[in-house]
Amino acid sequence: MAAPFRFRILQHGPAGSPVREPLTPGDPKPGWVRLELKAMALNHLDLWTTEGIPGVRLPLPLTPGSDGAGIIEAVGEGTVLPPGLEAGGSAMIAPGLSCGVCPACLRGDDMLCPSYGVLGHVCDGTAATHVLVPAANLVPIPPNWDFEQAAAFPLVFLTAWEMLVHKAALRPGETVLVWGGGSGVGSAAIQLVRALGGSAIAVVGSEAKAMKCWDLGAEHVLVRDDLKALAAKVRELTGKRGVDVVFEHAGAATWSTSMAACARGGRVVTCGATTGPETPFSLQALFAKQIQIRGSYMGRREHLWTLLALLRKNPTNPPFRPVIDCVFDLAEYPAAQRHLEAGQGFGKVVCRVS
Ligand SMILES: [Zn+2]
Repeated sequence: MAAPFRFRILQHGPAGSPVREPLTPGDPKPGWVRLELKAMALNHLDLWTTEGIPGVRLPLPLTPGSDGAGIIEAVGEGTVLPPGLEAGGSAMIAPGLSCGVCPACLRGDDMLCPSYGVLGHVCDGTAATHVLVPAANLVPIPPNWDFEQAAAFPLVFLTAWEMLVHKAALRPGETVLVWGGGSGVGSAAIQLVRALGGSAIAVVGSEAKAMKCWDLGAEHVLVRDDLKALAAKVRELTGKRGVDVVFEHAGAATWSTSMAACARGGRVVTCGATTGPETPFSLQALFAKQIQIRGSYMGRREHLWTLLALLRKNPTNPPFRPVIDCVFDLAEYPAAQRHLEAGQGFGKVVCRVS
Protein backbone atom coordinates (compact mmCIF):
# COMPACT_ATOMS: atom_id res chain seq x y z
CA MET A 1 0.00 0.00 0.00
CA ALA A 2 1.16 3.53 -0.77
CA ALA A 3 2.27 5.75 2.11
CA PRO A 4 -0.72 7.50 3.76
CA PHE A 5 -1.79 10.70 2.03
CA ARG A 6 -4.64 13.17 1.89
CA PHE A 7 -5.89 15.97 -0.30
CA ARG A 8 -6.16 19.44 1.21
CA ILE A 9 -7.87 22.65 0.24
CA LEU A 10 -5.10 25.15 0.99
CA GLN A 11 -7.11 28.07 -0.38
CA HIS A 12 -10.43 28.19 -2.20
CA GLY A 13 -10.15 27.56 -5.91
CA PRO A 14 -11.80 25.76 -8.81
CA ALA A 15 -12.89 22.12 -8.78
CA GLY A 16 -9.80 19.92 -8.85
CA SER A 17 -7.60 22.36 -6.93
CA PRO A 18 -7.10 20.37 -3.67
CA VAL A 19 -3.43 19.43 -3.24
CA ARG A 20 -2.04 16.02 -2.32
CA GLU A 21 0.22 15.84 0.72
CA PRO A 22 1.63 13.08 2.96
CA LEU A 23 -0.46 12.15 6.00
CA THR A 24 0.61 10.95 9.42
CA PRO A 25 -2.58 9.28 10.68
CA GLY A 26 -3.51 10.68 14.10
CA ASP A 27 -4.61 8.65 17.11
CA PRO A 28 -8.33 8.79 17.89
CA LYS A 29 -9.37 10.55 21.09
CA PRO A 30 -11.88 8.92 23.47
CA GLY A 31 -15.18 8.35 21.67
CA TRP A 32 -13.54 8.47 18.25
CA VAL A 33 -12.07 5.93 15.86
CA ARG A 34 -9.60 5.95 12.99
CA LEU A 35 -10.79 4.38 9.78
CA GLU A 36 -8.44 3.08 7.12
CA LEU A 37 -10.49 4.14 4.13
CA LYS A 38 -11.07 1.71 1.26
CA ALA A 39 -13.37 4.00 -0.72
CA MET A 40 -14.85 7.50 -0.58
CA ALA A 41 -17.57 9.15 -2.63
CA LEU A 42 -17.89 12.73 -3.80
CA ASN A 43 -20.85 15.05 -3.30
CA HIS A 44 -21.57 18.55 -4.57
CA LEU A 45 -20.54 19.63 -1.08
CA ASP A 46 -16.95 18.66 -2.01
CA LEU A 47 -17.12 21.24 -4.81
CA TRP A 48 -18.70 23.98 -2.68
CA THR A 49 -16.15 23.35 0.08
CA THR A 50 -13.33 23.57 -2.46
CA GLU A 51 -14.65 26.64 -4.27
CA GLY A 52 -15.81 28.45 -1.14
CA ILE A 53 -19.31 29.62 -0.24
CA PRO A 54 -19.98 33.38 0.07
CA GLY A 55 -20.44 34.30 3.72
CA VAL A 56 -19.24 30.92 5.03
CA ARG A 57 -15.79 30.74 6.62
CA LEU A 58 -14.28 27.25 6.50
CA PRO A 59 -11.35 26.02 8.59
CA LEU A 60 -8.65 25.90 5.89
CA PRO A 61 -6.51 24.01 5.22
CA LEU A 62 -9.14 21.28 5.04
CA THR A 63 -9.50 17.78 3.61
CA PRO A 64 -12.84 17.55 1.76
CA GLY A 65 -15.00 14.42 1.47
CA SER A 66 -18.11 13.47 3.49
CA ASP A 67 -18.74 9.87 2.46
CA GLY A 68 -16.44 6.94 3.08
CA ALA A 69 -16.12 3.29 4.07
CA GLY A 70 -13.21 1.23 5.34
CA ILE A 71 -11.66 -0.72 8.20
CA ILE A 72 -11.85 0.34 11.87
CA GLU A 73 -8.11 0.56 12.41
CA ALA A 74 -7.83 2.19 15.85
CA VAL A 75 -10.33 2.93 18.62
CA GLY A 76 -9.99 5.74 21.19
CA GLU A 77 -9.61 4.83 24.84
CA GLY A 78 -12.85 3.64 26.45
CA THR A 79 -14.79 4.03 23.18
CA VAL A 80 -17.90 1.90 22.70
CA LEU A 81 -18.64 0.92 19.09
CA PRO A 82 -22.20 0.79 17.70
CA PRO A 83 -23.91 -2.64 17.61
CA GLY A 84 -22.50 -5.08 15.06
CA LEU A 85 -19.15 -3.32 14.72
CA GLU A 86 -15.73 -4.34 16.04
CA ALA A 87 -12.15 -3.09 15.83
CA GLY A 88 -10.54 -4.49 12.68
CA GLY A 89 -13.94 -4.88 11.02
CA SER A 90 -15.54 -2.78 8.28
CA ALA A 91 -17.92 0.17 8.54
CA MET A 92 -19.36 3.07 6.57
CA ILE A 93 -19.58 6.65 7.81
CA ALA A 94 -22.63 8.76 8.65
CA PRO A 95 -21.47 12.20 7.49
CA GLY A 96 -23.22 14.48 10.03
CA LEU A 97 -21.38 15.65 13.15
CA SER A 98 -23.25 16.99 16.18
CA CYS A 99 -22.68 17.55 19.91
CA GLY A 100 -24.83 14.62 21.10
CA VAL A 101 -26.00 16.37 24.29
CA CYS A 102 -28.18 19.36 23.28
CA PRO A 103 -32.01 19.10 23.24
CA ALA A 104 -32.05 18.71 19.42
CA CYS A 105 -29.49 15.89 19.56
CA LEU A 106 -31.26 14.20 22.48
CA ARG A 107 -34.53 14.01 20.54
CA GLY A 108 -32.68 12.66 17.50
CA ASP A 109 -32.78 15.81 15.38
CA ASP A 110 -28.99 15.87 15.12
CA MET A 111 -29.06 18.03 11.96
CA LEU A 112 -30.79 20.77 14.01
CA CYS A 113 -27.96 20.78 16.58
CA PRO A 114 -26.45 24.29 16.94
CA SER A 115 -23.00 22.79 16.31
CA TYR A 116 -24.11 20.54 13.43
CA GLY A 117 -21.63 20.19 10.61
CA VAL A 118 -20.70 17.77 7.87
CA LEU A 119 -17.49 15.76 7.68
CA GLY A 120 -15.15 17.27 5.11
CA HIS A 121 -16.80 20.69 5.51
CA VAL A 122 -16.19 21.60 9.14
CA CYS A 123 -13.34 19.15 9.81
CA ASP A 124 -11.01 16.91 7.79
CA GLY A 125 -12.93 14.44 5.65
CA THR A 126 -12.53 11.36 3.53
CA ALA A 127 -10.38 12.47 0.57
CA ALA A 128 -7.55 10.66 2.36
CA THR A 129 -6.27 7.18 3.15
CA HIS A 130 -7.30 7.60 6.81
CA VAL A 131 -9.95 9.62 8.65
CA LEU A 132 -10.87 10.25 12.30
CA VAL A 133 -14.60 10.16 13.11
CA PRO A 134 -16.77 9.77 16.24
CA ALA A 135 -17.65 6.11 16.88
CA ALA A 136 -21.32 7.20 16.85
CA ASN A 137 -20.91 7.98 13.13
CA LEU A 138 -20.09 4.39 12.18
CA VAL A 139 -22.75 2.19 10.61
CA PRO A 140 -22.39 -1.44 9.45
CA ILE A 141 -22.04 -1.95 5.70
CA PRO A 142 -25.23 -3.44 4.18
CA PRO A 143 -25.03 -7.17 3.38
CA ASN A 144 -23.15 -8.13 0.19
CA TRP A 145 -22.08 -4.54 -0.54
CA ASP A 146 -18.47 -3.68 -1.32
CA PHE A 147 -16.67 -0.62 0.05
CA GLU A 148 -17.43 1.44 -3.04
CA GLN A 149 -21.18 0.87 -2.76
CA ALA A 150 -21.02 1.57 0.99
CA ALA A 151 -19.15 4.84 0.41
CA ALA A 152 -21.64 5.95 -2.25
CA PHE A 153 -24.66 5.41 -0.01
CA PRO A 154 -24.95 7.51 3.18
CA LEU A 155 -25.18 11.20 2.27
CA VAL A 156 -27.55 11.04 -0.69
CA PHE A 157 -29.83 8.32 0.69
CA LEU A 158 -30.03 10.00 4.09
CA THR A 159 -30.88 13.30 2.36
CA ALA A 160 -33.50 11.77 0.06
CA TRP A 161 -35.10 9.76 2.88
CA GLU A 162 -35.39 12.83 5.11
CA MET A 163 -36.94 14.85 2.27
CA LEU A 164 -39.45 12.23 1.15
CA VAL A 165 -40.44 10.59 4.43
CA HIS A 166 -40.10 13.32 7.01
CA LYS A 167 -40.35 16.66 5.19
CA ALA A 168 -42.81 15.71 2.42
CA ALA A 169 -44.55 12.93 4.42
CA LEU A 170 -44.96 11.02 1.15
CA ARG A 171 -47.95 8.69 1.12
CA PRO A 172 -48.36 5.56 -1.04
CA GLY A 173 -49.93 6.40 -4.40
CA GLU A 174 -48.60 9.95 -4.51
CA THR A 175 -46.61 11.36 -7.41
CA VAL A 176 -43.18 12.98 -7.02
CA LEU A 177 -41.37 15.16 -9.56
CA VAL A 178 -37.65 14.41 -9.16
CA TRP A 179 -35.31 16.98 -10.70
CA GLY A 180 -31.85 15.78 -11.72
CA GLY A 181 -32.75 12.09 -11.92
CA GLY A 182 -29.16 11.32 -12.92
CA SER A 183 -27.59 13.00 -9.88
CA GLY A 184 -26.58 11.07 -6.77
CA VAL A 185 -29.50 12.38 -4.71
CA GLY A 186 -31.93 12.17 -7.67
CA SER A 187 -31.09 8.54 -8.40
CA ALA A 188 -31.60 7.78 -4.69
CA ALA A 189 -34.95 9.61 -4.67
CA ILE A 190 -36.34 7.71 -7.69
CA GLN A 191 -35.67 4.39 -5.95
CA LEU A 192 -37.01 5.51 -2.56
CA VAL A 193 -40.22 6.90 -4.09
CA ARG A 194 -40.88 3.51 -5.65
CA ALA A 195 -39.94 1.66 -2.43
CA LEU A 196 -42.39 3.90 -0.51
CA GLY A 197 -45.24 3.14 -2.93
CA GLY A 198 -45.17 6.42 -4.85
CA SER A 199 -44.64 7.22 -8.53
CA ALA A 200 -41.60 9.20 -9.65
CA ILE A 201 -41.59 11.53 -12.65
CA ALA A 202 -37.87 11.99 -13.22
CA VAL A 203 -36.33 14.90 -15.11
CA VAL A 204 -32.97 14.38 -16.83
CA GLY A 205 -30.73 16.23 -19.26
CA SER A 206 -30.39 13.59 -21.98
CA GLU A 207 -32.02 10.51 -23.55
CA ALA A 208 -29.13 8.31 -22.33
CA LYS A 209 -29.89 9.28 -18.73
CA ALA A 210 -33.60 8.70 -19.32
CA MET A 211 -33.05 4.99 -19.98
CA LYS A 212 -31.23 4.62 -16.68
CA CYS A 213 -34.06 6.33 -14.78
CA TRP A 214 -36.50 3.79 -16.19
CA ASP A 215 -34.24 1.04 -14.87
CA LEU A 216 -34.35 2.61 -11.39
CA GLY A 217 -38.13 2.46 -11.38
CA ALA A 218 -39.26 5.90 -12.53
CA GLU A 219 -42.89 5.88 -13.72
CA HIS A 220 -42.22 8.63 -16.29
CA VAL A 221 -39.03 10.30 -17.46
CA LEU A 222 -38.92 13.75 -19.04
CA VAL A 223 -35.90 15.14 -20.87
CA ARG A 224 -35.37 18.72 -19.76
CA ASP A 225 -35.41 21.16 -22.65
CA ASP A 226 -38.17 23.76 -22.58
CA LEU A 227 -39.26 24.21 -18.96
CA LYS A 228 -42.71 25.64 -19.84
CA ALA A 229 -43.38 22.57 -21.98
CA LEU A 230 -42.14 20.43 -19.12
CA ALA A 231 -44.65 21.89 -16.64
CA ALA A 232 -47.43 21.29 -19.19
CA LYS A 233 -46.25 17.71 -19.64
CA VAL A 234 -46.33 17.12 -15.88
CA ARG A 235 -49.92 18.43 -15.74
CA GLU A 236 -50.84 16.10 -18.60
CA LEU A 237 -49.23 13.08 -16.88
CA THR A 238 -51.11 13.84 -13.65
CA GLY A 239 -54.56 14.46 -15.15
CA LYS A 240 -54.08 18.29 -14.97
CA ARG A 241 -53.60 18.06 -11.18
CA GLY A 242 -49.83 18.45 -10.84
CA VAL A 243 -47.56 16.39 -8.61
CA ASP A 244 -48.10 15.88 -4.89
CA VAL A 245 -44.42 16.44 -4.11
CA VAL A 246 -41.58 18.21 -5.91
CA PHE A 247 -38.09 16.96 -5.03
CA GLU A 248 -36.00 20.11 -5.52
CA HIS A 249 -32.24 20.51 -5.43
CA ALA A 250 -31.58 22.58 -8.56
CA GLY A 251 -32.83 25.95 -7.30
CA ALA A 252 -32.84 29.07 -9.46
CA ALA A 253 -33.19 27.35 -12.84
CA THR A 254 -36.13 25.14 -11.88
CA TRP A 255 -37.95 26.76 -8.96
CA SER A 256 -40.76 28.49 -10.85
CA THR A 257 -41.38 25.30 -12.84
CA SER A 258 -41.50 23.37 -9.56
CA MET A 259 -44.19 25.74 -8.26
CA ALA A 260 -46.12 25.43 -11.54
CA ALA A 261 -45.89 21.63 -11.53
CA CYS A 262 -47.00 21.28 -7.88
CA ALA A 263 -50.60 20.27 -7.22
CA ARG A 264 -52.98 22.23 -5.01
CA GLY A 265 -52.04 21.32 -1.44
CA GLY A 266 -48.77 19.80 -2.65
CA ARG A 267 -45.31 20.07 -1.11
CA VAL A 268 -42.10 21.44 -2.57
CA VAL A 269 -39.08 20.12 -0.64
CA THR A 270 -35.59 21.42 -1.32
CA CYS A 271 -32.15 20.34 -0.15
CA GLY A 272 -29.99 22.48 -2.37
CA ALA A 273 -29.52 24.96 -5.17
CA THR A 274 -26.94 23.66 -7.63
CA THR A 275 -28.03 26.27 -10.21
CA GLY A 276 -28.08 29.17 -7.74
CA PRO A 277 -29.85 30.13 -4.50
CA GLU A 278 -31.75 33.31 -5.50
CA THR A 279 -35.07 32.98 -7.30
CA PRO A 280 -38.23 35.07 -7.57
CA PHE A 281 -41.53 33.26 -7.32
CA SER A 282 -45.18 34.13 -7.16
CA LEU A 283 -46.68 34.37 -3.68
CA GLN A 284 -50.02 34.12 -5.45
CA ALA A 285 -49.20 30.61 -6.60
CA LEU A 286 -48.05 29.79 -3.08
CA PHE A 287 -51.24 30.79 -1.29
CA ALA A 288 -53.80 30.15 -4.00
CA LYS A 289 -52.52 26.60 -4.55
CA GLN A 290 -51.81 26.17 -0.81
CA ILE A 291 -48.36 24.81 -1.48
CA GLN A 292 -46.11 23.89 1.43
CA ILE A 293 -42.41 24.66 1.00
CA ARG A 294 -39.98 22.72 3.18
CA GLY A 295 -36.23 23.14 3.48
CA SER A 296 -34.16 20.08 4.27
CA TYR A 297 -30.48 19.54 5.08
CA MET A 298 -28.96 16.07 5.43
CA GLY A 299 -30.96 13.78 7.74
CA ARG A 300 -31.06 12.11 11.14
CA ARG A 301 -28.14 9.77 11.69
CA GLU A 302 -30.66 7.30 13.14
CA HIS A 303 -32.30 6.94 9.74
CA LEU A 304 -29.17 5.40 8.24
CA TRP A 305 -29.96 2.50 10.59
CA THR A 306 -33.56 2.49 9.31
CA LEU A 307 -32.28 2.23 5.73
CA LEU A 308 -29.85 -0.51 6.80
CA ALA A 309 -32.72 -2.47 8.36
CA LEU A 310 -34.68 -2.26 5.09
CA LEU A 311 -31.64 -3.52 3.16
CA ARG A 312 -31.04 -6.38 5.61
CA LYS A 313 -34.63 -7.59 5.11
CA ASN A 314 -33.90 -8.42 1.49
CA PRO A 315 -30.14 -8.73 0.98
CA THR A 316 -30.34 -10.57 -2.36
CA ASN A 317 -32.78 -8.13 -3.93
CA PRO A 318 -32.35 -4.80 -2.10
CA PRO A 319 -35.17 -2.27 -2.60
CA PHE A 320 -32.60 0.44 -3.42
CA ARG A 321 -28.88 0.72 -4.00
CA PRO A 322 -26.38 3.46 -4.77
CA VAL A 323 -25.84 4.09 -8.46
CA ILE A 324 -22.14 4.43 -9.21
CA ASP A 325 -21.21 6.48 -12.26
CA CYS A 326 -17.48 5.81 -12.23
CA VAL A 327 -14.63 4.91 -9.92
CA PHE A 328 -11.36 6.84 -9.79
CA ASP A 329 -8.24 5.98 -7.82
CA LEU A 330 -8.00 8.23 -4.73
CA ALA A 331 -4.75 9.61 -6.16
CA GLU A 332 -6.99 11.05 -8.95
CA TYR A 333 -9.34 12.87 -6.53
CA PRO A 334 -8.90 16.25 -8.30
CA ALA A 335 -9.92 14.63 -11.62
CA ALA A 336 -12.93 13.08 -9.85
CA GLN A 337 -13.98 16.57 -8.70
CA ARG A 338 -13.74 17.89 -12.24
CA HIS A 339 -15.77 14.94 -13.54
CA LEU A 340 -18.52 15.63 -10.97
CA GLU A 341 -18.58 19.31 -11.86
CA ALA A 342 -18.93 18.55 -15.57
CA GLY A 343 -22.27 16.90 -14.70
CA GLN A 344 -22.24 14.41 -17.56
CA GLY A 345 -22.33 11.26 -15.43
CA PHE A 346 -25.20 9.27 -13.93
CA GLY A 347 -25.00 8.57 -10.20
CA LYS A 348 -22.15 8.77 -7.74
CA VAL A 349 -18.50 9.52 -8.40
CA VAL A 350 -16.38 7.25 -6.20
CA CYS A 351 -12.65 7.06 -5.38
CA ARG A 352 -11.06 3.74 -4.48
CA VAL A 353 -8.04 3.60 -2.18
CA SER A 354 -5.69 1.14 -3.84
ZN1 LIG B 1 -26.39 18.86 19.64
